[in-house]
Amino acid sequence: MYQGDGKLIEYLGIKTVYSDPLYHILPKNGWDKAWLYVKRLATVPGPADTRQRLAAGIIIPLCTWASPWFTDPPDFSFALRKSILRTKCSWWCHSRFYADRIYLHPVFITAIHGLCDIARHIGSVSNHLFHAMDVHAGRLRFEAKIVADAVWVKPLPHCDRRVVQFLAELDPLDLNIDRFFNVASSATKHALRLSARCLVMCKAATSGRYDIDGINDIDMNLQSNRKWTEYRKALSRDDANRLSFIRGGAIRTPTRRHFGRFDKTPLCCSICDAINPSARHFFEHCPGKDGVLDKSRREILAQYNISSDWWLSRPSVTSKSAWITLDADPSLARRVQLQLAVASFIIFTTKFMSCEDYYTDSTDGCALTAEAVIGS
Ligand SMILES: [Zn+2]
Repeated sequence: MYQGDGKLIEYLGIKTVYSDPLYHILPKNGWDKAWLYVKRLATVPGPADTRQRLAAGIIIPLCTWASPWFTDPPDFSFALRKSILRTKCSWWCHSRFYADRIYLHPVFITAIHGLCDIARHIGSVSNHLFHAMDVHAGRLRFEAKIVADAVWVKPLPHCDRRVVQFLAELDPLDLNIDRFFNVASSATKHALRLSARCLVMCKAATSGRYDIDGINDIDMNLQSNRKWTEYRKALSRDDANRLSFIRGGAIRTPTRRHFGRFDKTPLCCSICDAINPSARHFFEHCPGKDGVLDKSRREILAQYNISSDWWLSRPSVTSKSAWITLDADPSLARRVQLQLAVASFIIFTTKFMSCEDYYTDSTDGCALTAEAVIGS
């Protein structure tokens, strides 16, 4: 390639300052096309599931097609989420949405792809390649190096403890050279995705939401557990949709609807007269109409052998949005069971509570309509 004498030059659809390995490598026409597509996505009719698939198949590849060379894609995650959901509802939690769909996050998925694709270019190592490797690894809180024609990574000191714990439990004989892990292994790739999920979820801690208690202690690794993913796949489309709303933090409750209003009248549950009924109230105490919620709660507790003390002591990320935390139980297998129990109960709750008391409605723009089906 022509050196360019410090000037921006174009080659095979990308452009950079070739003599400066620290200069960002960009698409030849910049990122305008990606922003335009994100904006246009919101005009696609039909369920959100359709727009989610279009985003994964058309928009995200605009960031990853030249992987690993693009190191600084624009963070259009907020606009992309708005385009996918196409809703006026402001209750969605940005972090929860992407923790469940890390493959749609432009910045983190570019870093994951980039790090995994470095090895394909080892035969032509350059300072640009080393720079790309460092940027992608650093974004995921790893350090990386090339040894024996392979890329190896190791968690940085400020990498999330859940990622460090996951890697510590891998077989070091297969994966470890000087405590580095081969990116080519599926377990290491999983660790990269896990780190991205933890990073995106941790941002919720500063969001000011009322449902973040326990947010930094969520068992993020469990979200990829085979039993849990099989459970989600086996759900009906309607139930999967409900679960997506719940885990996205978008459920509608009297306290949420009341927030910010100046009505001085006490806010009561229309079923049991409890004051300020939030999602936690329906999870923990509310008997439901004709006792239907109480009956279901007792059945779930018995089915999964759960004590009422455990049920009543859950942090709000569990009681309000069905994410299980690490302190739920020392055993992973048991935590999976507990997550199944919590998810099953809250899905049930959304079906058997009056829309006026719980869940969503069309005026808030997050109803269970075809437009809002999002799947996972
Ligand atoms: Zn109640």
